[in-house]
Amino acid sequence: MDESTDMAAPDAAVDTAPPVSARAARLASIPNFLRIERFINENGTRREVSACDFTFGNPHQMPDERYVTTLRDALTPQNDQWFAYQTNGEPAREAAAESLGHLLDVPFQPEDIYLTTGGFAAIALALKTVADPGDEVIFSLPPWFLYEPLILEAGLVPVKVTINTATFDLDLAGIDAAITERTKVVIVNTPNNPTGRIYPPELLLRLAELLEAASARIGRRIYLVSDEPYNRIVYDGLRFHSPVEFYPYTLLAYSYGKTHLSPGERIGYLALPPTMPRRDEMRPAINSLQVAMGWVYPNALLQHALPELEKFSIDIGRLQSRRDRLVEALGNMGYRMWQPEGAFYLYVPSPIPDDVAFAESLVHRDVLVLPGVMFETPGFFRISLTANEDMIERSLPAFEAAIKESVPRS
Ligand code: PMP
Repeated sequence: MDESTDMAAPDAAVDTAPPVSARAARLASIPNFLRIERFINENGTRREVSACDFTFGNPHQMPDERYVTTLRDALTPQNDQWFAYQTNGEPAREAAAESLGHLLDVPFQPEDIYLTTGGFAAIALALKTVADPGDEVIFSLPPWFLYEPLILEAGLVPVKVTINTATFDLDLAGIDAAITERTKVVIVNTPNNPTGRIYPPELLLRLAELLEAASARIGRRIYLVSDEPYNRIVYDGLRFHSPVEFYPYTLLAYSYGKTHLSPGERIGYLALPPTMPRRDEMRPAINSLQVAMGWVYPNALLQHALPELEKFSIDIGRLQSRRDRLVEALGNMGYRMWQPEGAFYLYVPSPIPDDVAFAESLVHRDVLVLPGVMFETPGFFRISLTANEDMIERSLPAFEAAIKESVPRS
């Protein structure tokens, strides 16, 4: 029997509307989404086969044995509920609160840790906890390129302020000027992707004062979302300071994907500091959001592993050596750059104004970097230090040839 004869004929008038929601269509048309998709499609084969891949913060080395053993151990059930639905598991919360408290010298409480599927979900949860559709969210350029989709998906309005590109510091005056009576959130990312800057305590203090004064001016509280997945990726023995130490109305988003260089294993959290006023009113709201946003809790396996995952990290010294090797070698070739203090990246001024053309000249030499245009700050390119040592050594002649070609010696 021909089944198609049984199907109702499509109604032309009904089917002229787009097949996706306006929100989904808007997300799909964000220029950076399109750029990244195009980049991945165009360079897919090259990335697989040969290239020195400095694009994303992905591992190019075998995972640490301890990481693998930890996951394997966490897989062994200790009771019949081992793989039951897990919300914010107590042992995981306790371990995370203790470790974060130790790092920042702030006594976080376990019930203020909300476990999520990585940093993405922690940021989305933070935004939806405090902001309503139509509210404005300020973030700095160059940004992590997925703030904008997360903001739009929550029905919020992105407002962008470019950093001081000479010092890589936040433009506090610019942030102040961007605040309107609709502002609800300012996102701060330190250690910063892509600049590698760790914002100093004085700057964070001035930001806190600014937000306090601006909240009073507009007559409603502005929250700070501190996106700090790299808070353990810090070089030269520097002490990391979080905005939570300075501004009580801060929601802290964290991911274990950087600490263990394992972004495919999705676990992180949103944390509220003990200084956050009215936390008792926020707790039930956050718990409900976690379910309603699609059960954004990490898998049971990762929750069981978390207390052990808190005890170690990837080899930061090895990352720092890669940073040192690249900063020195590129510096000798004539690249003028800022030495990152933390995170996974070098954000290097492009020797020619057209950063896309410069990145392409590297692609032709099998070296893949991301042009600054992807971070809405043309004139730079980003190198990820998660490339391995072999890639770094093989890439150096290409970096040298590319700068020589673009800046002819007189
Ligand atoms: N924030 C920043 C600044 C990041 O660089 C990333 C990951 N690249 C995230 C958040 C999200 O982290 P995850 O993928 O582990 O959720």
